[in-house]
Amino acid sequence: MDDLRITYRGSRGEVPAVRGISMSLEPGDTLGLAGESGCGKSTVAGAILRLLPRETQVTGRIVLDGDDVLTMSFGKLRAVRWAGASIVFQGAMHSLNPVHRIARQIAEPIVLHEGLSSDAAEKRAVELMAQVGLPAWRASSYPHQLSGGQRQRVMIAMALACSPQLIIADEATTALDVMIQAQVLALIKRLVAERNIALVMISHDLSVLADTCDRLAVMYAGKLVEDGPSHEVFAAARHPYAQALSAAFPTVGDPAERRNPHGLAGDPPDPSNLPTGCSFHPRCPVVRDDCASTSVELRRARDDWRAACLRVEEVA
Ligand code: ADP
Ligand code: MG
Repeated sequence: MDDLRITYRGSRGEVPAVRGISMSLEPGDTLGLAGESGCGKSTVAGAILRLLPRETQVTGRIVLDGDDVLTMSFGKLRAVRWAGASIVFQGAMHSLNPVHRIARQIAEPIVLHEGLSSDAAEKRAVELMAQVGLPAWRASSYPHQLSGGQRQRVMIAMALACSPQLIIADEATTALDVMIQAQVLALIKRLVAERNIALVMISHDLSVLADTCDRLAVMYAGKLVEDGPSHEVFAAARHPYAQALSAAFPTVGDPAERRNPHGLAGDPPDPSNLPTGCSFHPRCPVVRDDCASTSVELRRARDDWRAACLRVEEVA
């Protein structure tokens, strides 16, 4: 994606939720996208499949396999959803149809997009269930008969159903308890590696992302503030915001640390009322005089590592 900018328009006026994001992924790349609630992560995810409210203004380019998602026809877009890219959201209970059996729900996109008969598609559905660790007898279960972890596995099977090139997992494991969360993360990691699928995994928890993804990007107030190799970013972030996030989630899935980032006072700014200069400066522990007046773009901290802070060279 290139210079992606997204402004919601509603009764409360314009909300510039995403303000110029550029990044790219190759097949098999895994990118973790972190940031506190409200930083614009889900907005970016929604834009990739054009799932945002119709009146939302989206500019820039999102290219999937050579085609620009923002300008493609609706017919083409329908094919891209599922077969090009698919999204796994948090809270599978709300995304699954309560009155349809599991295998039928997994089979549905296969019938729709690959033109298989419903019998053939259900057979494929049972194979997909096996891959995500659900036994075949679960095929005839209804969503309410499954645990949260099992329902999330159904969502992953559905996301895989039409062999997409990109999977976006938006807080897909956040609602699960720690043990199950680790299992589902390991499953996603294995499946995308086996199939050479690109993965964008979104979470507010940096430790989860560092453990699952090769690259880590951190968003703040609608912009990327850091983007680099995940273990290095997690261990030694260059941007003070990314540093605060990694300090807030020291270990993977630690239940005590899951909810709010300690050690970081205040909240992210309201997108329609952003601070001047660097948006993070009012909360920044190492703020300088010029931070309030200088807007900072991503700078190269190293060949494979970027950060948007006036102190990048210093911190390095
Ligand atoms: P995240 O996923 O990082 O928590 P979101 O992308 O959901 O953040 O939201 C980014 C910003 O956009 C927030 O300030 C949020 O309030 C605002 N926002 C999200 N959806 C809408 C909408 N439909 N209309 C107006 N503002 C929205
Ligand atoms: Mg979100």
